[in-house]
Amino acid sequence: MDGSLTVIAGGVGAARFLQGALAVVPPETVTILGNVGDDLAIYGLHVSPDLDTVLYTLTGWIDEDKGWGVRGDTSRALDRARELGAPAWFWLGDLDIGLHLARTERLRRGEPLSAATAEIAEALGLRARLLPVTDDRLRTIVETDDGDLEFQEYYVGRGHRDVVRGLRFEGAEGARPAPGVLEALRESAAIVIAPSNPFISVGPVLAVPGVREVLVERSAPCIAVSPIVAGEALRGPAAGMMRSLGHEASALGVARIYGGLIDALVIDEADAALAPDIEALGIHAVVADTIMRDAAAREGLARAALDAAGAVHA
Ligand code: GDP
Ligand code: CA
Repeated sequence: MDGSLTVIAGGVGAARFLQGALAVVPPETVTILGNVGDDLAIYGLHVSPDLDTVLYTLTGWIDEDKGWGVRGDTSRALDRARELGAPAWFWLGDLDIGLHLARTERLRRGEPLSAATAEIAEALGLRARLLPVTDDRLRTIVETDDGDLEFQEYYVGRGHRDVVRGLRFEGAEGARPAPGVLEALRESAAIVIAPSNPFISVGPVLAVPGVREVLVERSAPCIAVSPIVAGEALRGPAAGMMRSLGHEASALGVARIYGGLIDALVIDEADAALAPDIEALGIHAVVADTIMRDAAAREGLARAALDAAGAVHA
């Protein structure tokens, strides 16, 4: 593929896909539009879980088993906080806390999140551009039978067990795209929506005014990779969330959610039988091995998505 690539990204699924993408295109040509709906303030620190999962994965610091956090990290700071009576429901490793300190201090000085992210990413050696979708406050709120929950309260605090009745992106209406976000979408040779949760990872990105509009009007091909394989999410609550929000939990359901925004959907071999129904929506279905178990599989999936971009372009 010639030209630049923009990838709309959540956390773990996106990070693994991006690892493959950076092996097949020059990293300097890639812009990552990151989700900030998961962000939280805890112990006075600004934590951006999805940006950090992407950053750690692409710079080699990731804890591969968990999919997030720093490999081999210790929790001495959190253990002490707990001993001293602080609530410790959100796990933060020591090295991780170091990053949050560096980020929070920059924000406290008045730097926008995008600038703080760029500096930290550069210091960790990331060669792609990692852009939070907005510098403004945007928070995912999960509506449940027990009332409205802040995202991390729902996800980590309560182990994403509540049935999701609805979602809101607090602050989204007034949020402005971070500098470079709309330009990246307009000027890219291809756009990929990573295999991420369509509602809570991609949803907040699309909720920032301008993003969806630019995607609808795009001239570049846009390819999504299905996070749903054989009717299930490979991790996290995506499948249950699709059902409770009135969608079919399948690659076809994903295709319907992204209708009008994508030219092609990469689906797993296990879902090959859904291809005709997806094609009937006017979306090209590309069948590939989408299980990103290792570096080779991640690279293969990235290649399949980018080849599809070339195909729909022609
Ligand atoms: P997170 O929840 O913030 O980590 O972020 P994501 O939304 O990026 O990741 C969760 C989604 O990624 C889930 O819906 C998973 O099904 C999907 N996912 C994770 N690993 C894989 C994989 O190997 N292949 C595919 N196709 N999807 C994956
Ligand atoms: Ca996330």
